[in-house]
Amino acid sequence: MKRATQQKQLIMGEITTFNSFFNAEELYHKVSKKNLKIGIATIYRFLNDLIKNGEIHSFQCNRRTLYSNSKKNHCHFICERCGEIKHIGLTKVDFLYQQIKEEICHVQIDVTGICKKCS
Ligand SMILES: [Zn+2]
Ligand SMILES: [Zn+2]
Ligand SMILES: [Zn+2]
Repeated sequence: MKRATQQKQLIMGEITTFNSFFNAEELYHKVSKKNLKIGIATIYRFLNDLIKNGEIHSFQCNRRTLYSNSKKNHCHFICERCGEIKHIGLTKVDFLYQQIKEEICHVQIDVTGICKKCS
């Protein structure tokens, strides 16, 4: 049990060093520099537990899963012609919180259209 707690503290400490989004591999690399005994499977299990507890949020980004403990929204503009994906930094998502009566944890928005290059 003690080892599990130490592992948890180590992984949690590394998560807080990310200022923005990160993926499981990036976290694994950081953690392995400190403790080689933690495998990638443990990292994934840990991340899933944190998501369930609402301590971190997960987003789908270009078919990959990203995580964040600070960011609560992730927005893409996807061009229908060239497929380019742009990240949009949304600051005001209050309208969603007003319109959705459920308890919102985090927000992911994919907006589709035609980019400046293609139009
Ligand atoms: Zn969330
Ligand atoms: Zn993204
Ligand atoms: Zn385009």
